[in-house]
Amino acid sequence: MAGLSAAARARELGAEPLVLEKGDRAGGSMLLSSGVIWRHRDFDDFRAECPGGDEHLQRAIFDRLDEGLDWLESLGARVTEPGTGNPRTVGRRFDPRALTDVLIRATSGARHRTGWSGTWPEGPLVLATGGFPARLARERGLLLRANPWSVGDGLELGRGRGGETAGDLDEFYGRAMPAVDHVAEADFVRLTQLYGRYATVTSEDASERFEGEPTWSETDLVQQIASWPGGRAWYTVEPASLQERVRERTVAAMIETARAAGAPVREEDGRVSVLVRAAVTQTLGGLRIDAHARVRGAGSLYAAGADVGGISTGGYSSGLAAALVFGRIAAESALG
Ligand SMILES: Cc1cc2nc3c(=O)[nH]c(=O)nc-3n(C[C@H](O)[C@H](O)[C@H](O)COP(=O)(O)OP(=O)(O)OC[C@H]3O[C@@H](n4cnc5c(N)ncnc54)[C@H](O)[C@@H]3O)c2cc1C
Repeated sequence: MAGLSAAARARELGAEPLVLEKGDRAGGSMLLSSGVIWRHRDFDDFRAECPGGDEHLQRAIFDRLDEGLDWLESLGARVTEPGTGNPRTVGRRFDPRALTDVLIRATSGARHRTGWSGTWPEGPLVLATGGFPARLARERGLLLRANPWSVGDGLELGRGRGGETAGDLDEFYGRAMPAVDHVAEADFVRLTQLYGRYATVTSEDASERFEGEPTWSETDLVQQIASWPGGRAWYTVEPASLQERVRERTVAAMIETARAAGAPVREEDGRVSVLVRAAVTQTLGGLRIDAHARVRGAGSLYAAGADVGGISTGGYSSGLAAALVFGRIAAESALG
């Protein structure tokens, strides 16, 4: 999202960017996402939910997202839902495949390489390598719920050139998934177990228990599970909560997807327990940028998207929104 937005904006401004993609396809984690690009309805809410994040960067996202969404539509991206379904947030939903295609079309005239590896080129460089979810998941023995190529190459290059970091490099946004060895990309959204708010949550060995209410995104709960042995937990749901809905799905329906995927499920007196695993979608720590997307301390290096740290620290905000806004800003600054 960040790289293609930067390239499309650079084309619009008359440049001929070179787009280097490590993976064998374009679209990164954006292509795997639910495609909801959103911001908090009130800026104070953004601050309250992500209290450790940089206020200037948060302000830029809040102020410039709507214009970024209009820009996507002007490029030909079609909105599939005009809202987020969450009263605290505003945004638009796009089909991720169609959005990727539209952005690629908008970069027509740019040179694209997939399967790229090698020496980073000279000249203004926008880092948009998607943070390091694949590395964090491997190192911590957690499931990966993101593209497999984002292992921190941008972060390493930025640090190597003197760039500062921001946010906590251990903090991530993730979801609970059925406790299986591997979840295929096509199942990332379908198998999500998003009902921690209706469950009693205990570690697999029952030595730990999550106290209190998780936040609506449940990212605090997932990080807690990640810190428990094996990164696993039991979600135990009382019969009365099985028909509760989270977005368009009932708790019972989500449990059925876990059972069908092969996760351990126990039943006792109508109470259902599902073994889940913490999965990493996006790292929240990364390079420190200023409001022009310049990496602090690293000369003519720019960064956008999940390569940037210190935006959602302490909570979660839309990764697609941050990538869209700072991808465009990075192109404008690099050419300015
Ligand atoms: C299942 C799922 C659902 C999600 N749903 C939502 C949602 O509804 N709303 C939302 O806001 N966010 C959502 N997200 C998160 C969102 O996808 C990310 O925040 C967003 O894609 C980040 O954009 P990015 O450009 O920084 O990284 P990415 O989109 O991941 O792109 C990074 C790109 O860099 C490439 N790369 C890595 N290393 C190198 C290298 N060395 N050289 C060249 N290329 C490299 C990767 O291959 C990849 O193509 C979801 C994510 C997933 C996985």
